[in-house]
Amino acid sequence: MADGPSATTSSSAEPARSGLDADALQRDVIDNLICLQARYPAIATPHDWYMALAYSVRDRMLARWVATVQTYAAREVRVACYLSAEFLIGPQLGNNIVNLGIEANAREAMQALGQDLDTLLALEEEPGLGNGGLGRLAACYLDSLATLETPAIGYGIRYEFGIFDQEIRDGWQVEITDKWLQKGNPWEIVRPDVTFYVPFGGRIQNETDADGRLRVRWIPANQVKGVACDIPMLGFRVNTCNTLRLWKSEAVESFDLQDFNAGDYYQAVQEKVISETLSKVLYPNDEPEAGKRLRLAQQYFFVSCSLQDMLRLLDLKGEPTQRFADMFAAQLNDTHPAIAVAELMRLLIDERQMPWDEAWDITGRALAYTNHTLLPEALETWGLPLFRSLLPRPLEIIYEINRRFLDDLRQRYANDEARVARMSLIDERGDKLLRMAHLATVGCHAVNGVAALHSTLLRQTVLRDFAELWPERFHNVTNGVTPRRFMLLCNPELARLLDETVGEGWITDLKRLQGLVAHANDDAFQERWRRVKLLKKEALAGRIRSVTGIVADPGALFDVQVKRIHEYKRQHLNALFIISLYQRLRSNPQLAVAPRCFVFGGKAAPGYAMAKLIIRLINGVAEVVNNDPAVNDRLKVVFLPDFNVKNAHLVYPAADLSEQISTAGKEASGTGNMKFMMNGALTIGTLDGANVEIREEVGEDNFFLFGLTADQVERVRREGYRPADYANSNPQLRDVLALITDGHFSRGDRDVFRPLVENLLQSDPFLVLADYADYVACQERVSAAWQDSRRWTRMSILNTACSGKFSSDRAIGEYCDQIWKIRPVSIALDRL
Ligand SMILES: *Cc1c(COP(=O)(O)O)cnc(C)c1O
Repeated sequence: MADGPSATTSSSAEPARSGLDADALQRDVIDNLICLQARYPAIATPHDWYMALAYSVRDRMLARWVATVQTYAAREVRVACYLSAEFLIGPQLGNNIVNLGIEANAREAMQALGQDLDTLLALEEEPGLGNGGLGRLAACYLDSLATLETPAIGYGIRYEFGIFDQEIRDGWQVEITDKWLQKGNPWEIVRPDVTFYVPFGGRIQNETDADGRLRVRWIPANQVKGVACDIPMLGFRVNTCNTLRLWKSEAVESFDLQDFNAGDYYQAVQEKVISETLSKVLYPNDEPEAGKRLRLAQQYFFVSCSLQDMLRLLDLKGEPTQRFADMFAAQLNDTHPAIAVAELMRLLIDERQMPWDEAWDITGRALAYTNHTLLPEALETWGLPLFRSLLPRPLEIIYEINRRFLDDLRQRYANDEARVARMSLIDERGDKLLRMAHLATVGCHAVNGVAALHSTLLRQTVLRDFAELWPERFHNVTNGVTPRRFMLLCNPELARLLDETVGEGWITDLKRLQGLVAHANDDAFQERWRRVKLLKKEALAGRIRSVTGIVADPGALFDVQVKRIHEYKRQHLNALFIISLYQRLRSNPQLAVAPRCFVFGGKAAPGYAMAKLIIRLINGVAEVVNNDPAVNDRLKVVFLPDFNVKNAHLVYPAADLSEQISTAGKEASGTGNMKFMMNGALTIGTLDGANVEIREEVGEDNFFLFGLTADQVERVRREGYRPADYANSNPQLRDVLALITDGHFSRGDRDVFRPLVENLLQSDPFLVLADYADYVACQERVSAAWQDSRRWTRMSILNTACSGKFSSDRAIGEYCDQIWKIRPVSIALDRL
């Protein structure tokens, strides 16, 4: 290495830790390799080089971070606090390099050290601190908050084990523990001095204080210590670097001496074990919450730490507690942090001796709630015995909130006890259940859905009574995704073409992509557009081949469905169509069909048997189709294992067709649909979630619409849905189901898929069979459009051109204006 470290003696004037040129970076990488990894170049592993580079990039963020924190502390600013049980932030190195604007320099610096930047980027472990869309949304919002120079903190949980890694064995999903922290996390800065204690269990004691006022004392059985672990969140080409603060649980230093002295050593050890397991593992969603004591403990733990931290920051600023809501706007990402309503009340009343009415006013003004689901089985509830045993004091406060709320309701709706019972925070119909969505709605000043249709349905269904009572409380903020990660970082080839065509400003002003419309029919531009897409398809095909051995033809239509596996998302509807196509090709080998490669990806919750069976079916179909010489020149089916943010970078840019085929009314928004659109994929979809708005933006001619509407779905259900009738009256569908039943996709085993087929024929809760015929017909229109390359390319360009609305910058702008009333604060960077 002639131009190795020794070459750095003739160096630029830029300081090693902050200079953005290649020379300063190179010097810092060597410093960090030696001083932090304790390695020297000749023996450094690729991972050592990754760590050294990551620390060097982090060095360049820290001055911005400190300046940001300082500015927020010194100035009168309102801070958005995004409370979320999940932050699916994805790999950080590439994103931070892009946001700093040092990609070329980083590449040059590493090259000079004999290292390839892309190889190092691929080494980063994904922080899998989320399940899917909800956690990824939180991460996109942090990117936009920083990019828009908005004061913000993300608050969540530092899971030691994130979402499991998925492997496929014999067609089945196998879950592997995610050990993302094993090799260290260079982005994390632990703050042992920022710790809070969170009480659990025990009893309540009523006391009278010196002034003769009644005081409540919670004497917990156990306390858990929360330690702040910070990750810097840098905006795009700005100095703003906000904080993602994740709480790690630790046991309180010493064992409970009383227990110890009483000889109950094991009880004391037990409590310590519980404390340390609290932030161990992320719960996979789509599983029944019932009885998940640890899950409730996690929620309370991170909410309590976060609110205590906000109070600490208020004190640091010298502001009185009364100013809490002026200084903070806390957004609850779904009901997972809804306990914040009771916890903020507890902290204000018990810890800061505030009267109830004043505390209630502050709580309501500080908090806002985002609803993410209408599925009744996904609406969070907790059994009262469990809740009481863990959180006796918060439960008391919830009872008092409910008592006052129901009193008000009875004033307003005299003689309508049914309505009062429906709205109560407690469902008293069977075993008593605490309704977290009601708690959030009552305790927050704003409630929003995540797409126009979802917000409408929310007002009409699950929160109807509340929308009648407080219409002004309800909002819509359609979700968005960050174009930095999902265009610039993962599709630089497209980004370059966009720069040249509409100018560089599009990345922070995505509506400027409209400028592409003028080029949609231009042959030369179309050719360049197709070349970018082909490049991305070749890259995905390369990955598919190395991971699965399947050879995908980049010239084929890439038809992609990647998202969590769930019956409502209907991956099995897609599979039924593939089987019907396969059958048609088998019976008519000369049939002219456009070659297609179907790509699936997504994890099933470990306890969700039907979702796992759908994965098995897709892999069964793949095995048969890919090995049948009669069809495998035209059809390929791929299940790409372990769909996560890192793999997503490869998938979204390579798609021609985006499958968004959920049962109408079930997908709150979807965000995958937006990532596909930005990267020029056409959508085949139902009128569900944000699909409705995507179709509005791009125009109905450029969207493949099929299926029942949400209204029609409800009507079919009301009138008595009989799925078997659809199978009996459609020979093609009948044959498809028969082939599955006969074991054609399970090596002759007729039992494997029985539960799936029986479920479809007998109940089909998500109307797969009702939508089947229309879906197949719509796929015919897709095939026809694909045959006309000019037409397809035009539609592809128009999809990207019209995707501006779906930037998370737009969404965050709406939260700031409508809900948080927060304005940007720019960060000045004094001489580093
Ligand atoms: C965007 C994203 C999702 C959400 O996808 P939907 O299609 O909206 O369900 C899930 N997982 C990952 C890794 C994502 O990037």
